[in-house]
Amino acid sequence: GGRVDEDLLVGLNPQQREAVTYRGQALLIVAGAGSGKTSVLTRRIASLLRGREAWPSQILAITFTNKAAGEMRERVQQLIGDTAQGMWISTFHSACVRILRREADQFGFTKSFTIYDSGDSRALIKRLVKQYEADAFGLTPASVQGRISKLKNELADAESFARTANMSDPAERLFAEIFADYQRSLQRANAFDFDDLIAQTVYLFRAFPHVADTYRRRFRHILVDEYQDTNHAQYALIHELTRPIEDVGALLDETDGASLTVVGDSDQSIYAFRGADIRNITEFERDYPGAKVVLLEQNYRSTQNILTAANAVISNNFDRKDKKLWTDVGAGDKIVGFTGYSQHDEAQFVADEVEALHRAGLPYGEMAVFYRTNSQSRALEEIFIRAAVPYKIMGGTKFYDRAEIKDAMAYLIAVANPADELSVRRILNKPRRGIGDVTETSIARYAADQDITFRDALTHASALGVGPKIQTAIAQLDAVLVEATAIMLPASGEAPPSTAVAEGLTLLLNKSGYLDALRMSKDPQDEARVENLDELVAVTREFARNNPDGTLLDFLTEVALVSDADDLADASGTVSLMTMHTAKGLEYDAVFVTGVEEDLIPHRISAGEPGGPQEERRLFYVALTRARKRLHLSLAMTRAQFGEVSVAMPSRFLQEIPYDLIDWRQSPGDINARGQGGSRALNGRRPGGFGGSGTSGGSRYGDDLVPLPRRDKPAGDLAKFANRIPAKVRDNGEMELAPGDRIRHEDFGEGRVDQVTGEGAKRVAHVRFDRAGQKKLLIKIAPIEKL
Ligand code: ATP
Ligand code: MG
Repeated sequence: GGRVDEDLLVGLNPQQREAVTYRGQALLIVAGAGSGKTSVLTRRIASLLRGREAWPSQILAITFTNKAAGEMRERVQQLIGDTAQGMWISTFHSACVRILRREADQFGFTKSFTIYDSGDSRALIKRLVKQYEADAFGLTPASVQGRISKLKNELADAESFARTANMSDPAERLFAEIFADYQRSLQRANAFDFDDLIAQTVYLFRAFPHVADTYRRRFRHILVDEYQDTNHAQYALIHELTRPIEDVGALLDETDGASLTVVGDSDQSIYAFRGADIRNITEFERDYPGAKVVLLEQNYRSTQNILTAANAVISNNFDRKDKKLWTDVGAGDKIVGFTGYSQHDEAQFVADEVEALHRAGLPYGEMAVFYRTNSQSRALEEIFIRAAVPYKIMGGTKFYDRAEIKDAMAYLIAVANPADELSVRRILNKPRRGIGDVTETSIARYAADQDITFRDALTHASALGVGPKIQTAIAQLDAVLVEATAIMLPASGEAPPSTAVAEGLTLLLNKSGYLDALRMSKDPQDEARVENLDELVAVTREFARNNPDGTLLDFLTEVALVSDADDLADASGTVSLMTMHTAKGLEYDAVFVTGVEEDLIPHRISAGEPGGPQEERRLFYVALTRARKRLHLSLAMTRAQFGEVSVAMPSRFLQEIPYDLIDWRQSPGDINARGQGGSRALNGRRPGGFGGSGTSGGSRYGDDLVPLPRRDKPAGDLAKFANRIPAKVRDNGEMELAPGDRIRHEDFGEGRVDQVTGEGAKRVAHVRFDRAGQKKLLIKIAPIEKL
């Protein structure tokens, strides 16, 4: 144990104190929302530093977003009154990039590797799917990408997949080939995709124990926030880092593994679709024997009414330990409910309410509006603009996804990592230089013949067998890249000033003719594109100010790892709009949860997924628990999408909130009574009552699903899924079901069993639900009862 200054413990409750001061190998802090998990983690770091039990460089803290990392670092510095240099507080991805940049040359990459975002890897996979004519076997770029990602999150590489897959199935064989080729292409391009950043670091540590030892020796205290959302690869990474140091021959004062602290809340696990595995929490005590477990039960964020509502909702999930969250701040205001006739009516309510709160003295920055899908923000924006409410969409602007920004980044990448063929090909004819597909193919062929990179082939314009005009165009592009390289990566080996990135980018955009082409264009959109590029140059300048030693690679890394929650712009004076997923970990005085309708939350794509509706309930729980003082729940009875108007039903989650906690400004029943909107759907229901089926099918949300993250249907994976369920879940044991039996399901209602397949714990009931349609259920764990 060490000395902890009392002032770091001031105001903490006994459990929080224990979590800050416990000194042992492994500590698990499990607690509900707003109970101080993140605060405790921060104080724990501060106490280790203050007590001189650790140097800053011995600390590795993992947060879920870059923004959260920045806040934690700042808070630690406030607490210890020092700038703690050398401390790693970052996301999993950033930490792995730092490790990989240092170690890449150990295994066939260089430190200037490119990070492919999901659009880049999609482009690569698309090319492969076409090349292998895989669509004939039902393989689409999206499905291949989703599957590769899932495999990587489980640490399965192309070889291990090929060993275990059913290779007599031609589609499986083809997938295995594409996976392997994709991996080879990444390596040739000196690139990692997002999932690789974690997986390759794990492989690196496993293949090179002495490298792993370096980091084990360095990081003596590892702390992980939001542990419930770690996937298997991330789990394995932490496991590698906390193992005892292997090289005991060396002179060491410490050989034990690092101390590990993880905090999490299984009720807030919302990334199962991305491979997050709740077992990492439920089995922590098994994986780290002797681990100390601390429970925090006092909530310091929300009023009792908000907490009661959130607790009531989450208690409907069957695979959880019950937690008793309480607060001593009092009941507070009731939750405000509102049902609009349309999404515009709903948005108007939100805008009016925001203005009323603002007039009453609440700053805009203390208010947030949440929705399930990005496209729901459109109606809100329209009304907010009209009402002159200042707002900011978190993650909605997608600045770095814009074509012109991607082009500019590709120019920078072509300088930093010439092996990255994807980027070089991207800028080949941007702006238009008359270089078409035929020329591109000749360059690729020349590169293959000469065994040089695509980029190097550009330096041999005259040997490419193309016309003189095109030769000149290629030579000019080559010259611009060479000139920019001299600025940003001087051959002298001397570190260029951090302003070199801004300078190099400006040169690339000007001398390539890219900016001129936009300026000369008559397309009004191109004016906005020029402004966006100016903005990018401004970002590089700001980067130089914030990172005096920042290199081109540092800049590219920062951009590659920007996530939805890490908005660049300052949102302090504005209302924040964001998806429920992005809201994780944040808090606001006033929160508006919008679109509380069936098919939105729970989202319709979750209905057929095992565990889908449960995960949606956790997402809704996350949304509710962001509110400190005021919570608003709203919905629309009709929702127009793509010119089609359809009737919406109140979400089942609304029904789970005790009726007297909600003060309905306009309830679904009110609308019914007046016979407006939604009357067809609401016929015969009691006012405010929400018995309810999903709405009829159709493509209501059609393309709207795009902003949602991928989900792989685990059709053939039910058995595996069964293994993933923590041991404490409900167990229907020997429930005998036969065709013709009627059952009731917690989420889907009543239905009739058509068929039972499988054996033992893997028995699956094929059920035709009266309202929800056909579903397959794993009998052992499904929330069902026989009627
Ligand atoms: P989430 O589950 O949403 O991530 P959390 O458990 O990480 O929440 P924090 O964000 O750390 O909770 O804390 C919630 C709020 O409660 C913060 O505003 C924090 O400053 C405050 N808080 C935490 N502990 C205390 C305490 N002992 N006294 C007063 N306020 C506290
Ligand atoms: Mg937190």
